[in-house]
This record gives sequence, C-alpha cells and structure tokens, in this order.
Amino acid sequence: MPGLDFLQDELDDYRKRGIYNKVKVVSGEQLPTCIVDGRKVVNLSSNNYLGLATHPKLKKAMIEATEKWGVGAGAVRPIIGTMEIHVELDKKLAAFKKVESALVFVAGIAANRGVIQAVLSNQRNKDEEGQYVVISDELNHASIIDGVRLTKAKRAIYKHCDMTDLARVLEEVKSAPRIMIITDGVFSMDGDIAPLDKIYELAKKYGAITMVDDAHGEGVLGKNGRGTVDHFNLHGKWDIDMGTLSKALGCLGGYIAGSKNLTEYLIHQARPFLFSTAHPPGVAAACIAALEVLDEEPERHKQMWDNSQFFKEGLTKIGFNTGRSQTPITPIIIGDEAKAMEFSRKLYEEGVLGVGIIFPTVARGTARVRTIVTATHTRKELEFALDKFEKVGKIMGII
Ligand SMILES: *Cc1c(COP(=O)(O)O)cnc(C)c1O
Repeated sequence: MPGLDFLQDELDDYRKRGIYNKVKVVSGEQLPTCIVDGRKVVNLSSNNYLGLATHPKLKKAMIEATEKWGVGAGAVRPIIGTMEIHVELDKKLAAFKKVESALVFVAGIAANRGVIQAVLSNQRNKDEEGQYVVISDELNHASIIDGVRLTKAKRAIYKHCDMTDLARVLEEVKSAPRIMIITDGVFSMDGDIAPLDKIYELAKKYGAITMVDDAHGEGVLGKNGRGTVDHFNLHGKWDIDMGTLSKALGCLGGYIAGSKNLTEYLIHQARPFLFSTAHPPGVAAACIAALEVLDEEPERHKQMWDNSQFFKEGLTKIGFNTGRSQTPITPIIIGDEAKAMEFSRKLYEEGVLGVGIIFPTVARGTARVRTIVTATHTRKELEFALDKFEKVGKIMGII
C-alpha cells in the first residue's frame, strides 16, 4: 500500500524547485533585535508593530488572570467556555472600535471564516445561497479566500483598489439578492490602504454589504490605532469590521465588530465560534491590557510612524523601489524571484531579517523582501539595517 508515500515525492519536488522551507526559530523574546536560528539579527519581519508582545502590562495581566482563573476555558464559547473575562474583552473592543457590539474568535483566520460563511448563508432559504455574490479585491489575504470558499456564493474579483473596476463588477451582478464586498484594510504585502470611503459610496449605491479585514490596520491606522474604518471616519456606516488581536495588539485572537444583530447572528451561525474552544482567560486578559495600552501610551503609535517614515525615506534615498507603501509595511521590490530570495539570505548573513516573498504570495515579476518597522526599533538599529541593505544591494547590483 503506497499510502502516504506521495508526501516524499511532494517534498522532493519542493527541494528541486527551491521552495522547500525550514521554519526559522527565535531564541528568547520577540524583540527588535533577536536571535533567529542562532544568529543575532535586526528583526524587520514581525507584526509586533507596537512592541506589545513583550509589554510588561500585558505580561502581568496574563499571569494574574492565569493565577485567578486557570489556563483553559474548558469548552467552546456557546456551551460553557464564555467566562466573564471574555465578555469584558468583547465589550472593551466594541467601545474601542465605536460600534454597538464585538465578538472575539480564537484567531483572525477563524473570524474571517466564521463571518463570511455566516453572512452568505440563509437558513430559511438554502436555495438562494447560490445566487449571492461575494466581491473581493484581487490582493485580499488568504484567510478571506478561505472564508469565501466555504460559501455557495458566486465569486467576483476587482482589480486592486480600482474603483472603476469595482463599479463594473457591481453593475454586472446588481440583481443578486445579496452582495458582499470584502477588502483588506492595509494590504499585507504592499502596505497600501484600501479606499474604504469610495468602496462605501459604491456599496451604498448598489445595496452591497461592506467588510474589511483590518489585520494590518489595527493598532496602525486611526486614532491611537483604532483601524482603517476610523481612519476614514466611517463609524456607523461600515457593516463588518474584522480585526486581529495577534499583530499590533501583540497577543492572539480575531474579532468581528459591528451591529448587535451581526454579533448575535454570529453566535448562532459562525462555525469557528460554535465549534472551537474559547481563549485561555490569560489571553483575553492580555488583549484587554493591550487595548488599554493603545490609549494610555499613544507615543508608541507616534514612534512607529516616525520610525517607519525614517526607514522608508532611507530606503528611497539609497535607491530602492518601495512600491506603493503608505504604512509601516514596506516592500523592497526586486522583481526576480531567485534574486529576492538571495537578497534576503545575504541580509540575514549580515544580521538583518527581512523575508523574501515570491509567487504565489505576490504576482510574478514582483518578488520582494518585505519589511515591517516597529515602535520599538531604535534609530541605531534602523541605521544598521539601512547600511546592510545598501551594502547587499550594491553587491548584488540591485541599486
Ligand atoms: C494575519 C492575518 C490574518 C489572520 O489573523 P490571525 O489572528 O493571525 O489568524 C487575517 N487577515 C490578514 C490580512 C492577515 O494579515
């Protein structure tokens, strides 16, 4: 019986194609300079935008909650896994996001799967589900695509942030009984911002539902990091705001913020909410502390933007192409795939960690090294990194 023998063939093929991946291991804390696979590097690859993953207030909250309430929730949220600390986090998030209600899932990917499937299902008229249409920006995150795959809805794609193309798609599908437009708030490989204001206007015209995945906007855009909806001041207008607690908030989790009806409906219909165990109480407590820190220490937010501007300007001055980035996510676009991977490898040897990103994560011919600068990087670390980018860029003939 061959059974799982095909796995060996698959892995051999990855090695042959040069895409075989060995997961990097961090020794010690997630800091701006850390030890990765035994080498000390300036870390430009984490989503720990504000340095909250190691913030003393979050650590203390997690430890204290664990001492008080234990390490596990014991059940899925709708059975008996919802503890008071989980409800406190839902409420705190709703207040922070200025919405009626919020509901936490174990991760961002779970929130996306749950909400997209639930909103595009119809328990009273199953036949109608196949007529619904979900419209996605072509560069949306994989977890959105996964969520869409769970529905029976028809799929349509519009060109990246192209409102003329979105209007064209809406015009084509306007007779559908339910239409949902989904976009990332900040695009994870380019660092540009979706024009939610214009998307909202088009959605209103066609009666479409609006959803944003704000994994990279949370803690980054808006007042004290309230996100992309806040950045465009669309409170009360935007339908579904999905965020993650795993990136700038330094911890773990995903959530949906919106109307009370939306979260009540999700409690009944979102499968990752129904069938996956609630967070440990310590995680919920740390997330609450993170939301408090965002408002208590706005200087972190400012420092992140200052650092990001300094680094981006440095890269441009050296002569790199940083694409259309408007946020701390800054790609250095190389084009050729082998060259991008080689660039990343050489940077690592020089003590700088920026991951190489190639097709299918980004379009062919736009291979890149992606960087994220955080609030906690010092100028010295950023200058060191810029020096190395220049050095390796020259050696490789990129600049
Ligand atoms: C990271 C990410 C997610 C998933 O969030 P997790 O909390 O890590 O599961 C979803 N969407 C986007 C755009 C992301 O970058």
